[in-house]
Parts: sequence; structure tokens; C-alpha cells
Amino acid sequence: MRIPRDDTFEEQRRTYRLRFTCEHCAFFHEPSSRCVHDFPNEEHRQAYYDSAYEWIVFCKDFELV
Ligand code: SF4
Repeated sequence: MRIPRDDTFEEQRRTYRLRFTCEHCAFFHEPSSRCVHDFPNEEHRQAYYDSAYEWIVFCKDFELV
């Protein structure tokens, strides 16, 4: 799901420390920084949200660790 950056989401993800990036997903292979499903994951990574990102991009296969 891809939606434009939103100030409310930005505030809430920081306030409530929302977990939605690959780093908190059961399918993330940390040593290789890749998704075990081989999905392109650049826009699902924490580093993306720490940058001046334009789109919020949720992964439909996210599974909280
Ligand atoms: S399933 Fe989605 S959120 Fe999980 S590691 Fe793969 S790309 Fe990232």
C-alpha cells in the first residue's frame, strides 16, 4: 500500500514507536539486509523513514517479530 507522506502518521509513528519496517518483520534476513521472499525492500526499511521520504509504503506481507 502506497500513500503520500502524512504529518499525522509521522508524529504517531515516532510517539508510539510504531513497528512496520523490515527490521521488525519475521521475514527480514538481517545479515544480508534482504527479504527472505526476495521482495524489493528499500522502501520498507527503517533508513527510508529516517530520510526525507515522500511515500509511506506498507508491505502487505509484514509479520511482526
Ligand atoms: S515481507 Fe515485507 S516487511 Fe517483511 S522483510 Fe519482506 S519486504 Fe520487508
